Amino acid sequence: MDETIDALIVGAGPAGLMAAEALAAAGRRVVVAEAKPSAGRKLLMAGKSGLNLTFDADPAAFLAAYGEGGDRLAPILADFGPAEVRAWAEGLGIALFTGSSGRVFPTAMKASPLLRAWLRRLDGLGVALRTGWRWTGWDGAAAAFATAAGARRLRARATVLALGGASWGRLGADGAGAAILAAEGVPVAPFRPSNVGFRVDWSPAMARHFGAPVKPVRLTAGGRSLLAEFVVSAGGVEGGGIYALGPALRDGLPLVLDLLPGQDRAALADRLARRRKGDSLASHLRKVGLSPVKVALLRECAAEALATPEATARAAKALPLPLRGPRPLDEAISVAGGVAWSGLDAGLMLAARPGVFAAGEMLDWDAPTGGYLLTACLATGRHAGRAAARWAGM
Ligand SMILES: Cc1cc2nc3c(=O)[nH]c(=O)nc-3n(C[C@H](O)[C@H](O)[C@H](O)COP(=O)(O)OP(=O)(O)OC[C@H]3O[C@@H](n4cnc5c(N)ncnc54)[C@H](O)[C@@H]3O)c2cc1C
Repeated sequence: MDETIDALIVGAGPAGLMAAEALAAAGRRVVVAEAKPSAGRKLLMAGKSGLNLTFDADPAAFLAAYGEGGDRLAPILADFGPAEVRAWAEGLGIALFTGSSGRVFPTAMKASPLLRAWLRRLDGLGVALRTGWRWTGWDGAAAAFATAAGARRLRARATVLALGGASWGRLGADGAGAAILAAEGVPVAPFRPSNVGFRVDWSPAMARHFGAPVKPVRLTAGGRSLLAEFVVSAGGVEGGGIYALGPALRDGLPLVLDLLPGQDRAALADRLARRRKGDSLASHLRKVGLSPVKVALLRECAAEALATPEATARAAKALPLPLRGPRPLDEAISVAGGVAWSGLDAGLMLAARPGVFAAGEMLDWDAPTGGYLLTACLATGRHAGRAAARWAGM
């Protein structure tokens, strides 16, 4: 006999847990099925870098960060945006602060207290969490699961899928659910890495700079230019500046660096021309503001330019960095692609499978780091959960 419940959530990440909260708050009996032995593994990983929950920006600027997917997210984020995320986290007893850049973090700079308080709240609302339950698709009207105790089936009036994206697969989101949905006729865009490093074939001379931050630096690609920073790594380059230009770089557009964004090129050439007797080239370059890693980048990407002050200034102000494509999907902080908006109604219900909703990173939107990812996961989870509660109540 199938077990019958009001609402099933698949995936205990931020989107699934938020859907569970919305459904339980509406009085529905909720089961959350999670493949991994515990909930929120990627959320806890995000906590290792401080857990950037949201971004303190006015609604229009906040929405602009989502690019094309922003249109469909607009009403969802209007309902549950940065202010609501803050209030929700504070409601769980989590003190927050806003960094100088506008990024909002828990004061504790980690995710575990928030996750603990959230799971306690859900438990209090009667939400049942079943870990070690891997959803394998549907068997007729019932959702099918592989568990350590064998196959299980659940029949739910409404289901919210919150399977995550397709990166850091060891934390649970391995992208396998997308194939199940595609076979059901759900339009699914291929997953692509987002907020990911890019490969560079460094010469051995760069090895001593691996881990070094390049800052400040102006990065330009695809007509966008921003003052940011990035890190040189063994595999290439990574960090905020690279992630922010990810969509253009993913399309193969060239990346150009201004290593001395505060300095005018002519004035820089002038300073470079006035080298003191006895100064090595390296120490001379350092005196004009080029850190060792920036000098190494100049040598790596434009060695010939170091021949004259004029050419050095030109290279320092517009240095092309040859990228060899994004790092592998599994290394990405997030993914673009997933369930296409064309397959979803306004309540995030799948047209191909009435009564089944989808939320979180598994939907086809993209955003930079800065709290935009978690905010959209929480907002779509809540939105799908509320729509599912209405559906289950019919
Ligand atoms: C290193 C790192 C740092 C990050 N830092 C930040 C940050 O500071 N700020 C920010 O906004 N974002 C950050 N992110 C991104 C953010 O963590 C994710 O976007 C977010 O966790 C996605 O939420 P989700 O609920 O959609 O998916 P997930 O959190 O991936 O959860 C999906 C869940 O579904 C489960 N699941 C998948 N398939 C099945 C199945 N078949 N059956 C049952 N369960 C299944 C998985 O095990 C998983 O628990 C970071 C990501 C990484 C990797």
